[in-house]
Amino acid sequence: MIFCPKCGAMLVPDPETKRIKCSCGYKETKTKNIVVREKINGKEKLEIIDKSVEVLPKTKMECPKCGNDMAYYWLAQTRSSDEPETQFFRCVKCDHQWRVY
Ligand SMILES: [Zn+2]
Ligand SMILES: [Zn+2]
Repeated sequence: MIFCPKCGAMLVPDPETKRIKCSCGYKETKTKNIVVREKINGKEKLEIIDKSVEVLPKTKMECPKCGNDMAYYWLAQTRSSDEPETQFFRCVKCDHQWRVY
């Protein structure tokens, strides 16, 4: 949960700018990342990733884009709990992101 430093209201992701904004007009312009999750009922679900990349563990994994052999990884639960978790990777070198089922 991220709160507005100006008025204290909860900040929400803006689907158009992919930035975090507040109803008072405040806009977060750095540090936080927003990712677009799967579309649910035709609506994109935006999520604020509050953890910085540096805290993610690294693993030996070849990047399909640049061939670098080290990537950050994390797990995410998909919509239904009977589906297996999805493993995400992000190349430490070129920031390319991909997932493995
Ligand atoms: Zn505000
Ligand atoms: Zn790469």
